Amino acid sequence: PTLPYDDDNIFARILRGEIPSKRVYEDEYALAFHDIAPQAPQHILVIPKGRYVSWDDFTARAGDVEIAGFVRAVGRVAREAGMVTPGYRLLSNVGADGGQEVPHLHVHIFAGKPLGRMIA
Ligand code: 5GP
Repeated sequence: PTLPYDDDNIFARILRGEIPSKRVYEDEYALAFHDIAPQAPQHILVIPKGRYVSWDDFTARAGDVEIAGFVRAVGRVAREAGMVTPGYRLLSNVGADGGQEVPHLHVHIFAGKPLGRMIA
């Protein structure tokens, strides 16, 4: 990965329960919670429980069961949050040019209004 994993990053601290979060889903592989600064009516973050910075890091080092567990959790959160109809958007920012602020892999899920057309 571009960035080294930092055990004191904010999502690591949320995982350890050192910082409160509004949790919406948790299992062995993933934790989901509301973004503190929502950019849509619904804005949830889903993170893997392992120490991964990015998608490239995660898919290089995680096992298939762990990857499947995390990806499955993303879809499950969208379903359980009632986003399937009328729809939602997934986003991961990675690295400096990607605008990543927190160096722990995360997927944003946005929903709750027409999100418009976004290429980049
Ligand atoms: P990034 O820019 O790295 O893709 O997104 C980081 C996201 O984490 C931002 O949307 C930001 O609002 C969110 N965030 C930052 N600090 C906290 C926090 O302490 N709690 C929660 N719930 N979200 C946070």
